Amino acid sequence: QDKTMDKIVSLAKRRGFIFQSSEIYGGLSSAWDYGPMGVELKNRIQRFWWREMTQLHDNIVGLDAAIMMHPRVWEASGHVENFHDPMVDCKNCKNRFRADHIDLDAGCPVCGVSGQFTEPREFNLMFKTNMGPIHDENSVVYLRPETAQGIYVNYKNVVQTSRVKIPFGIAQVGKAFRNEIVTKNFIFRTCEFEQMEMQFFVKPGDDETWFEYWMKKRMAYYEKIGIRMENLHFHQHGPDELAHYAKDAYDIEYKFPFGWKELEGIHNRTDFDLSRHSEYSKKDLTYLDEETRERFLPYIVETSAGLTRSLLMVLCDAYEEEQVGEGDVRTVLRFHPELAPITVGVFPLVKKDGLAELAKEIEMELREDYATFYDQSGAIGRRYRRQDEIGTPFCVTIDYQTKDDNTVTLRFRDSMEQIRVSRSELSALIRSHIKS
Ligand code: ATP
Repeated sequence: QDKTMDKIVSLAKRRGFIFQSSEIYGGLSSAWDYGPMGVELKNRIQRFWWREMTQLHDNIVGLDAAIMMHPRVWEASGHVENFHDPMVDCKNCKNRFRADHIDLDAGCPVCGVSGQFTEPREFNLMFKTNMGPIHDENSVVYLRPETAQGIYVNYKNVVQTSRVKIPFGIAQVGKAFRNEIVTKNFIFRTCEFEQMEMQFFVKPGDDETWFEYWMKKRMAYYEKIGIRMENLHFHQHGPDELAHYAKDAYDIEYKFPFGWKELEGIHNRTDFDLSRHSEYSKKDLTYLDEETRERFLPYIVETSAGLTRSLLMVLCDAYEEEQVGEGDVRTVLRFHPELAPITVGVFPLVKKDGLAELAKEIEMELREDYATFYDQSGAIGRRYRRQDEIGTPFCVTIDYQTKDDNTVTLRFRDSMEQIRVSRSELSALIRSHIKS
């Protein structure tokens, strides 16, 4: 299983999805950079989520709040007081671990020596910095450890300016920072990551119904982006896992090569957040229902997914080594066509006799509608395999026949089937396959 992960990490590097941060300086541990293919994939996952949550709902609007917020926000949210994890050091190899991530009775995961852990110490996961020239306690600001608080503190602004009525949601995608101790599993857990969160404001009493609604919707979303359903399940938080603010909480977990792990949290946060913010800010954050003239503090149902973690899931789920003949294995990323960084690869069979020029012309046409990639070097089979490895769902080859009858070969990534298509119908045909 670890082998699969090694292969995915190596493919991600080789094909320009993910690089170690500051690699030429030996790398910064647990920080990663997204290369040309990675940034496309990440943007597409984000766009898909955004469309799903905002465009396809008439009662959800977007927001993009600042990463740095007033320090009182984090007192109100409980993060200053509660957002910490127990940490232990191995006295033998000096490595540091989160006590709840390892088995303290077993040996050290790095050096194997047992019985050498320090007593667990609590440490706060928020990154602290100072704003302005004077570095003292009065200039402390935090890098947000979650995007949600930016939504809560703007909820009144949104209500007053965008005519939304309860039940409604606010969606946001952005960076979050946690001073995590990370030792393994690639981009699964990092200190700097991105979240896609949607906070849904409801009338108290309607929260359980909406909670169930969002559980179903969020699972259906993963099916829509092409994730194999047998690799996903719900995990309900037991009483010992439930956060102090939550009435009910489910994680959507994905079966990564290193085990079932959380991908997204769906939480019934009650009126905890808004009541704390109204207490700390001394502002009235109640909502007035104009029809019934009732005033209440809304309950919040939260769906909080990791974007960078979703990208890892999409990579793992798409990765396949397929036996395609005697001793021949092709590596293919079976991305949903709308997530693939490149949608159409375009190749001239050979460079000469005007085929390269013709292929470029066809690529220019397709560019209007799709992310394309032009490649004229190497054997055609090798070019197909390169596109398979970055998950390109369609490839178009221009050959001598194209000059005669204006048809091209369209090759499908998953079936490797090839069909002859007229140039004028090419774009529409690709579109119909993306939609199907
Ligand atoms: P854990 O208990 O594993 O630290 P959490 O339960 O605190 O995670 P949430 O606060 O619910 O996580 O965050 C919501 C989502 O944000 C997670 O489901 C995950 O996808 C993502 N996420 C949280 N922390 C990280 C991280 N350090 N790196 C990458 N993604 C993260």
